[in-house]
Amino acid sequence: MSMDRREFIKIAGLTSLFGAGASGAFQLLEPGVLDASTHEEHGHGDAAHGQAEEQASGPKVRWAMIVDVRKCEDPEVVKRIVKACHTAHNVPDFGNPKDEVKWIWADTYEHAFTDSANEFMDKGIEHLPFLLLCNHCDDPPCVRVCPTKATFKRPDGIVAMDYHRCIGCRFCMAGCPYGSRSFNWRDPRTVLKGKPPNPDFPTRVRGVVEKCNFCVERIWKGLQPACVEAAPNVLTFGNLADPNSNVRQILRTRVSMRRKPELGTKPSVFYLV
Ligand code: SF4
Ligand code: SF4
Repeated sequence: MSMDRREFIKIAGLTSLFGAGASGAFQLLEPGVLDASTHEEHGHGDAAHGQAEEQASGPKVRWAMIVDVRKCEDPEVVKRIVKACHTAHNVPDFGNPKDEVKWIWADTYEHAFTDSANEFMDKGIEHLPFLLLCNHCDDPPCVRVCPTKATFKRPDGIVAMDYHRCIGCRFCMAGCPYGSRSFNWRDPRTVLKGKPPNPDFPTRVRGVVEKCNFCVERIWKGLQPACVEAAPNVLTFGNLADPNSNVRQILRTRVSMRRKPELGTKPSVFYLV
């Protein structure tokens, strides 16, 4: 399901104006549950406020991603998605797990949904690769612990990074409960050999943390994230704050899960199983 391009550009323009720069380890969201819960997540619940003007001042945009897990079975699809992201963002490949930098990757159900795997679960899910990336949490612990504000949350919900402000303390890595951040132990420019695959995206230096940025540089141009463009039948990107958006329509009709809901971080990445 693709987003209407004109609508996408309109929203992207709005977000660039704002700023350029359950409980239990396993929570199934029944279809439509989010219609009520996003209201609460944005602090608009009648119990919380009840004032019409406060409702009107709520966020107009909260970007979100939906991963259709059963469509990730083919390893070539996963490879295509990872390659699209890592090429678009000049993510270095040092060829060894110790120095690995990753923005999006596949892992097992057991690792993605720690503590919720059990011997009785659907064997059809157990073997599937789960695409993992930054969840762009609505209440992101990584932002709270960063001493320099190198990582910050934008009004459109994207948890962004200013690489120049990162001092490499890795507090954000310790604060992220999802392992979504990577540290450049080595100079990434040495493996990019002075020729980054995407000259329009900044390369990083040694000692800097990085992660998925929800393709903020593409969104403001009215483009879909690179991973979504590479596999539009697997990934869907859209505005969670709009009850009529593509993502809300999917979440209204399909059962979905988010990672570690018990932490209250409110991820913006949903998994259809
Ligand atoms: S997934 Fe981790 S890095 Fe991303 S916003 Fe949440 S806490 Fe921060
Ligand atoms: S949204 Fe962009 S940065 Fe994030 S995983 Fe997809 S392609 Fe990579």
